[in-house]
Amino acid sequence: MKQFFLKITIGILIAVIFILLISAIDIGSIKIPIAVKDWEDKLSNFVVEKTEGLIEAIKEGNSEENNAEENEPAEVIIGTEGDLEIHFIDVGQGDATLIMCGDDAMLIDAGYWDYGEGVEAYVDYQLEDNHLDYVIATHPDADHIGGLSEIFGSEILTCDKIFFSGYDRDTGTMYYVEEAMKEKGYVSEVPSVGDTYNLGDATFTIIGPVQMYEECNDNSICILLEYGSTKYLFCGDAEELAEADMVEGIYNIDCDVLKISHHGSKTSTTPTFLAEVSPEYAVISVGENNEYFQPHATVLNLLRNYGINVFRTDEQGSVVCTSNGEEIKWNCMPSTSWQAGEGAN
Ligand SMILES: [Zn+2]
Repeated sequence: MKQFFLKITIGILIAVIFILLISAIDIGSIKIPIAVKDWEDKLSNFVVEKTEGLIEAIKEGNSEENNAEENEPAEVIIGTEGDLEIHFIDVGQGDATLIMCGDDAMLIDAGYWDYGEGVEAYVDYQLEDNHLDYVIATHPDADHIGGLSEIFGSEILTCDKIFFSGYDRDTGTMYYVEEAMKEKGYVSEVPSVGDTYNLGDATFTIIGPVQMYEECNDNSICILLEYGSTKYLFCGDAEELAEADMVEGIYNIDCDVLKISHHGSKTSTTPTFLAEVSPEYAVISVGENNEYFQPHATVLNLLRNYGINVFRTDEQGSVVCTSNGEEIKWNCMPSTSWQAGEGAN
């Protein structure tokens, strides 16, 4: 009798261990991207709450047809033809954007200094006349202006108008950028909000910084680019304060394409700002496995919830969009990983 109970007990134990093993293997084999995991974790305390606010904001500001599309990602057309070309150049952790329209070209930032040569080569390859009509240093952080010393000092490229944000920073990076400019006799200017310039048949308007802020990032030069009926917004690393001022500002910042500020940091792309911009496409310029854990899950969650197509340089390399003034085409399909920086929140 004792032996019978022992056998039963051992049998049950083996069955339990077996079930535990099976379930462990099962759990272990499911790879949950951090963003998705976070998205589920935060569903109750972040996404739902903020999304309701977001939808309300959209309802107030937009027509009913737009509401119907709020969670449906727009169609992505693959192609590279169009008079307007925007190249979000992969410079690892940093920003560098080349915009071309007709015979004109503009470079917004050039990544860290060690990417300078790469950006120079990229621009050289794209431009027939090797002339940049505009160079915008959004703000003096090294991941934006570092590479500009190479661009200004280049023996193959020439630059015309050079815009600085007016926020001074006494850094080694700044020193090299200014030295390179001096050698070429280049002079920078600080644009004012409301200034408008032509870039081929496109125009761009300076919409920020609306005022001088304490934080370097908030002082980023923000530009609104328009070509035909298409609109694009580039705001460097502008954060919450600067975004709030642009929402309150006089410019209609409703856009088709948003370059996500500050590499997808949670300190930028607030729900209110995103509702106002209501882009169909967003591009995140960010380095793989960066030390800042960018892009942050909160931003990805917001973009995902809103049904925005997201392109990322860390996963897709340089991302290019083109337009004929009506339609926007992309060189690749959007990312579907929703993968946040490791350890991000
Ligand atoms: Zn940055």
